[in-house]
Amino acid sequence: MRTKEYTGIDLFRLAAAFFMVAIHTSPLADVSETGDFILTRVLARVGVPFFFMTSGFFLISRDVCHTKRLWDFEKKTAVIYGAAILLYLPVNVYQGYFQTEHFLPKLLKALAFDGTLYHLWYLPAAMLGALLAWGLMGKLGERRALAAAAVLYLVGLFGDSYYGLAERFSGVRCFYTQLFLVSDYTRNGIFFAPLFFLLGGILAQKERKKLSVCVAGFCVSFSLMLAEALLLRHFSLQRHDSMYLLLPFCMYFLFGALLHIRGRRLAFLRDVSLVIYLIHPLVIVMLRPAARLLGLWELLVENSVVHFLVVAALSAVFAVGGTALWRKYRPKRETCDRDRDRAYLEINVDNLAHNVRELRGLMQPGCELMAVVKAEAYGHGMYETAVHLNRLGVRAFAVATVDEGIRLRRCGILGEILVLGCTSPGRVRELVKYDLTQTVVDLGHALRLNAQRRTVKVHIKVDTGMHRLGFAADETEVLAKVCKLKYLKLCGIYTHLCVSDSLAAEDAAYTRGQIDRFYQALDVLKKEGITIPAVHIQSSYGLLNYPELKCDYVRAGIALYGILSNAEERTIQTPDLRPVLSLKSRVVLLRRVKSGESVGYGRAFVAERETQLALLPVGYADGYPRELSCGKGGVLINGCYAPVVGRVCMDQLTVDVTDIPNVRAGSEALLIGAAGGEKIFAPQLAGACGTITNELLSRMGARLKNVTVSQ
Ligand SMILES: *Cc1c(COP(=O)(O)O)cnc(C)c1O
Repeated sequence: MRTKEYTGIDLFRLAAAFFMVAIHTSPLADVSETGDFILTRVLARVGVPFFFMTSGFFLISRDVCHTKRLWDFEKKTAVIYGAAILLYLPVNVYQGYFQTEHFLPKLLKALAFDGTLYHLWYLPAAMLGALLAWGLMGKLGERRALAAAAVLYLVGLFGDSYYGLAERFSGVRCFYTQLFLVSDYTRNGIFFAPLFFLLGGILAQKERKKLSVCVAGFCVSFSLMLAEALLLRHFSLQRHDSMYLLLPFCMYFLFGALLHIRGRRLAFLRDVSLVIYLIHPLVIVMLRPAARLLGLWELLVENSVVHFLVVAALSAVFAVGGTALWRKYRPKRETCDRDRDRAYLEINVDNLAHNVRELRGLMQPGCELMAVVKAEAYGHGMYETAVHLNRLGVRAFAVATVDEGIRLRRCGILGEILVLGCTSPGRVRELVKYDLTQTVVDLGHALRLNAQRRTVKVHIKVDTGMHRLGFAADETEVLAKVCKLKYLKLCGIYTHLCVSDSLAAEDAAYTRGQIDRFYQALDVLKKEGITIPAVHIQSSYGLLNYPELKCDYVRAGIALYGILSNAEERTIQTPDLRPVLSLKSRVVLLRRVKSGESVGYGRAFVAERETQLALLPVGYADGYPRELSCGKGGVLINGCYAPVVGRVCMDQLTVDVTDIPNVRAGSEALLIGAAGGEKIFAPQLAGACGTITNELLSRMGARLKNVTVSQ
């Protein structure tokens, strides 16, 4: 969805590639030693971390469940690495690389860490760094992964530009001596790369910082890094000078600033910069005999500025030419947007943000929104939804099961996560490990949880008339006892209303009764001296019909997704809610049937005229209800309504497009959502199936892809 932000990254790739050339040619060596140090050992040092961050940006997200992306990256990098090793084999032979002693261990060390030529260390470092960053993110979650990578970086730092300090302690020196037997430097895939991969991945998920903040941050951190580098040089502390304490900060702001440069994607530059990086050492090697032949040795090799410019220019020419040729003659493969190829759910995050604002506007001061994201966020995709809600400052979530809670944490979701359902006490370890808050549903449950002897956060559920989970509201002695259990950390008490959606006098009275019983129970507990950190009652309808209740949370589900459970339902408050989800698909093929021919299972449709049919690859296994067969449902194609023809199948359905112009294979079909003034509204579809929107939506998503969009 953020294709617009890639221009800055693509442009900077080129700069970073030239930085690499600079590092290996020392352009200012003849002019000023300090100047060259500043250019090649400080400024140009942003190049490699930038490439790591870029890879991390596209690869490491908080949804580290799809390992295929990681393996694709590893495979691609391995292929490039293999090709580069072959390319430089003649240079290795020329340099006598294969005549050395301990050839095999040396080769293994080079392959894993140092590269078979000086610049090739980057590729194994990228592979190892990606793997480590991915693993850390999946195992530890965002914050702890970052901390772990930072520790690795620090270890690396003391084997790099701070080695002069580390060396003074014999134990530490011993450690690094051993380390350097395995890898010549600490600037590698273990100590150097993971932090930048993670930083890139985290930036991809975070709200964008203001450009002014990024620029100022970069200027400050770069100046400090310069001072750091000059100091280290002054005291001769460096063993090597790739890693600085301030480099990660510099990179964070630099990358943030680059994300502000918007425009077209410049994929060409991506390939060009890669080729420049790969071939510039070859250009350096080849330039020498060429300069000799031409009699231009002094100018082309000895003059450092010219040398750099010539190497950079030749590398760029080869890279551009090679890339252009490759693009022209490579085997043409058909591409497809995998996510939108079949049927998919489009999640409009702007509407989600709008609904959050609307609901917050109705809430009493001091009350927080607890987003109910159970059942894949009612079909909207739990991960995508929760990440966006986190960005909007939502800090409380409710899920149905402990596994849903764990998944949220693994995706790096911050804040309180309340498990609404009953969790087996055998899973207390996981509740604690993932910092989840458990609902306590009755005395037996409370005692068994407590008996696990691990302090677990809980909310107590009080049954005030729904007669589902919870302690009876009049069992106040039992409640008081549970509040005092040693291993249950009481974080809140709540109840659930069962007819808050109805405005009928009788139902309103019942709801009032529920609310009163709840507060009476709380009063008794307060008199017992029990402090209750948080109280909550309302779900979506509770908020819409009883907005005056003063609680600490509102547990909103369906309203957050911009719809109500039933069509044309009256509520006391009528905020401007906007549907977040659309269900879309594409026409796979068109088919004409003659009058009298039947369509589909059971021959449920028989054409009364010559009929043009369009087949859509979406069916009841995707959550599109079979009840919508035979004209009860319909879709929008080119802004016109096309009724469902015959029975909805498990994986496909047929619609009548006889009267709709310009329908082709590939035309978009809207099954739920709005387009061009027309809309197919989820509550109406649910009504047509005799159910509520909650059921309709929560059944979607098992097989459908989620695509997030924003205007
Ligand atoms: C599902 C659920 C909610 C959310 O209900 P909506 O009507 O979708 O807002 C709130 N509280 C509990 C206990 C729930 O199970």
